[in-house]
Amino acid sequence: MTKTITPYQTIGIIGGGQLARMMCLAAKAMGYTVAILEPTPKSPAGQMADIEIVAAYNDMTAIKRLAEVSDVITYEFENIDYDALTWLEKNAYLPQGSQVLKTTQHRFLEKSAIANMGIPVPRFVLIDSAESLEKNIFYPSVLKTTTLGYDGKGQIVIKSEADLPRAKEQAAASECILEEFMHFSKEISVVVARSTAGETAVFPIAENIHVNGILHQSIVPARISKKVEDEAIAHAIKIAETLDAVGILAIEMFVVDDTIYINELAPRPHNSGHYTIDACITSQFEQHVRAVCGLPLGDTALHTPVVMVNILGDHMDKNNLSNLAAYMPLMRTGKIHLYGKEEARDGRKMGHVNVLGDTDQALTAIADTKIWGL
Ligand code: AMP
Repeated sequence: MTKTITPYQTIGIIGGGQLARMMCLAAKAMGYTVAILEPTPKSPAGQMADIEIVAAYNDMTAIKRLAEVSDVITYEFENIDYDALTWLEKNAYLPQGSQVLKTTQHRFLEKSAIANMGIPVPRFVLIDSAESLEKNIFYPSVLKTTTLGYDGKGQIVIKSEADLPRAKEQAAASECILEEFMHFSKEISVVVARSTAGETAVFPIAENIHVNGILHQSIVPARISKKVEDEAIAHAIKIAETLDAVGILAIEMFVVDDTIYINELAPRPHNSGHYTIDACITSQFEQHVRAVCGLPLGDTALHTPVVMVNILGDHMDKNNLSNLAAYMPLMRTGKIHLYGKEEARDGRKMGHVNVLGDTDQALTAIADTKIWGL
């Protein structure tokens, strides 16, 4: 049964990081009350929320309390505890359901589901021991843990036999998939929204550049052919509809010679959709709120080209997060968004900048700041 959640009612979010913070900001702008569940006090979202429940994500007393104060529950990450999920499905309003989560929590289930839709994915095989890795090995390949991997964590590129010992250690310790290493010309992502009424809306495609396995830049519009664009959109809608997804679903893809292969799915707002905050009529966060609240979806049109650049701990004055001089080049270049994290560490996502206007000029302006040093 679907419901319409109206302003002044409460949206409960599991997770208190930057995605929850930006969901919270969008929800508050639309007149909702927001509750969050997060183990760390004063988290990025905790600073914004009306109700902050500080407890572990799998603390059932806290899950029940979140359900008690919320009219609808959503989440900012896919690795929600199984028992919490089962309980919420029975006892609270979780319009996104548990099926998409169960599929996207596990790389083998996720890739199998996509392959079953007739959509290309890199060749893959389940690996459940060091012996099964030895038996199934091919080169070049990537060994990825089936669960809990993000930003390139839990991934080993296997170019030759020399990489096998390290890969075997990972295969012995955790269940993995072995995946073909793709020589892609581009990585792109499609952020699609699907509402409880089954309406879908697709945001403009982002071209993504990763550095050390972490997203560095999203360039929008992506510099791809019309054929790739149409195919990417068609795949995204088919995946969202087949999985019966509700809310935002982000789909990462590899482009190889004009053919698209799906890399992975995220059933939530995604880093490669942060550009929508300043460059689209509706942001991915507002769209997520609309979708889970049973409201009509907003217009996804782009009103300006944009390059989004992530600000990691590496790019900040770690010892003085209030050092204005360190932010000045970013502020001159674009629209700055900081997540309010109290400690900056290398590789930690601290904020992002949206540089609006002509793509070449934006890329030059970003290079000129020298902040990213790339
Ligand atoms: P993932 O966590 O699966 O999104 O992987 C993080 C990044 O690693 C991707 O965005 C790619 O840049 C790279 N990567 C992952 N899988 C592959 C693959 N099969 N072939 C080549 N590069 C990959």
